[in-house]
Formats: sequence, structure tokens, C-alpha cells
Amino acid sequence: MAPLELASSTARLSRRGFLAASAAFCGTCAAARAAESSTPNPPPEPIIDIHQHTHYHGRTDLQMLAHQRAMGITTTILLPAGRTTLGTATHGGRSNGLAANCTGNDAVMAYALAQPGEFLFGANEVTDLPEAKSEIEKYLKLGAKIIAEQKFNVQCDSPESERLYTLAADYGAPILLHFQEGTYNSGFKRLPAVFEKFRKTNFIMHAQTTWANIDANYDWKSHYPTGPVAKGGLTSQYLADHPNCFADMSAGSGLNSLLRDEDHTRWFLEKHQDKILYGSDCADTLGRGPGCQGAGTIAAIRKYAANKSVERKILYENSKKLFRL
Ligand SMILES: [Zn+2]
Ligand SMILES: [Zn+2]
Repeated sequence: MAPLELASSTARLSRRGFLAASAAFCGTCAAARAAESSTPNPPPEPIIDIHQHTHYHGRTDLQMLAHQRAMGITTTILLPAGRTTLGTATHGGRSNGLAANCTGNDAVMAYALAQPGEFLFGANEVTDLPEAKSEIEKYLKLGAKIIAEQKFNVQCDSPESERLYTLAADYGAPILLHFQEGTYNSGFKRLPAVFEKFRKTNFIMHAQTTWANIDANYDWKSHYPTGPVAKGGLTSQYLADHPNCFADMSAGSGLNSLLRDEDHTRWFLEKHQDKILYGSDCADTLGRGPGCQGAGTIAAIRKYAANKSVERKILYENSKKLFRL
């Protein structure tokens, strides 16, 4: 139909017909808007989230996808759990699925490969299983970008852990460790020797013991300490002294560390601007609002970064470089 014909047929519409046609048109608009919101809007500024999980506390894949898009994430690295075991490394089975019902290598890889460009995948296994190295290596060969999330009840310098540090170096893939003293990857104070022994391995520190230790006066009691922070805690020392040591800002512990002392946060982000990576590790379904810690962490980084360059490094550039994206 030529434009003139369309115009004349529109002109012939009665007022009632016009309203009905408008309503139908608006309905189409609403559907289009819904479809639009479920596809990635090209955000003005890309953000890489290096720490997310599938089936996190039972969240569906669709909810996870909507969560990441609502937060404005352009690239997500999905971190699988190890297999189901009943040994001490998983506290007799209580910490299977990363203690959060998360799924393992096959499910994570399949999901990421079905969303090319938007999702990448890690490789993982229970640290002290005899087949841990071969299982992880299988997925590294298939394109896994990181060994993670290592969240098992082992010493951080155990022979089994060290075997994986060597594997990480062999494949140029960082290894991400959940540090929670006494529960997962214990021995935080001994890390300098690990960083020195495995200089070709890039380590990413994460979780409670990491973020409580921004404070030089940390008393090793609370997992989520509050109040003023004394500069120069172990985490700050490790980031400053070891080129192969990084930290991801994820989870409640990361956000807590950003919010407890604003002056320290501004100093910390600037000082370690080349070593901090954005991760959400966020399990809600909305991806926005007060219940979304991941969105809160992005907001805090934007608020306290000394300038745009520092903000972009933490939200994007550092991960792009480290993961060669
Ligand atoms: Zn996690
Ligand atoms: Zn969230």
C-alpha cells in the first residue's frame, strides 16, 4: 500500500475505530517493549561481571539472565560448582553446589555457549579429589576462562590446591578463591608465600576473610566488620606487593567493605585501581533495588571511585585485560 492510500484510509477511520486501532497499536508497543527489555540493550558503558552462578539458591536461568541485564552487565563469567561429594572438603556434603545449590561444569558451559558474547564459563572441581586436575583441564581445553569458584574446606597451600595453581598458570587462566578462614581455603596469612611460589598464576581473592582484612586492625572475629578502617590491612598489602594478586568486589562482604568507611574506600579504590575486579555473586531475581547487592556494589564503585578512569578500570578494563577479552 502506497503512503497516500494509507493516509486516506486512516482519514476514513471513525473516532471509535481510531481509538480501537490506537489501543491495538499500543498493545503491540507493549509487547515490543517487553521483548526489548529481555534482549540486551547496548549499554553506554560495558560492565564485566566475573562472578555469577547458575541455579544460585534455585534461581532459574531466565531469572539469572534478566538479573544480569537489569544490572547492565554486558559480559558475565559463570562459575560452576564441583561435583557432589561427602568428604571433608565439602563438609560432609553440606557445601556441595558451593553451599548454594549452584550447578556444575556441564550445565554452566552449555548455558554460556548458548549465549555467545554475553556469557563465558569457568571450570571447577572439589580441590582434593584425585580427578580434580583432569576434570578442570577438560573444561579449560573447551574454553573455560577461569578456575572457580574454589570454595572448599582445604588449606590454601595444600598440595592439592598447589596442583591447581600450576594448572592455572599452564592455561593462563586465573584461579578465584573464596577465603573464609576455618571454613574455606584457610591459611590467609600464609598467602604471600603462595603468591611468591606461583608467580605465573593469577590469583583472585574473594569473600569474607579477604574483605575483613582491608582493615589493619581486624580482630578475626566478625565476618562483616563495621566502622572505621585502618589502612594497610593484609588484603591491601597483598594487592600492593604481589603483581599476581587480584580481588573481586563481589558478595555481601565486598559491598560491606565499600560502605563501612567512605574515606578509606576512596583511598582503597584509587590505590588498587589496577587490581580490583567487579563481580556480583548476587542471588536475587530483580537485578535492581535495595535487595540487589550486585547493583549496590556498582553504585558504590561509581560513587567512591576518584574519577571516571578508576571506575572504568574496576567495572570493565581490568577484567578485559586479565581475561584477554
Ligand atoms: Zn560465588
Ligand atoms: Zn542482584
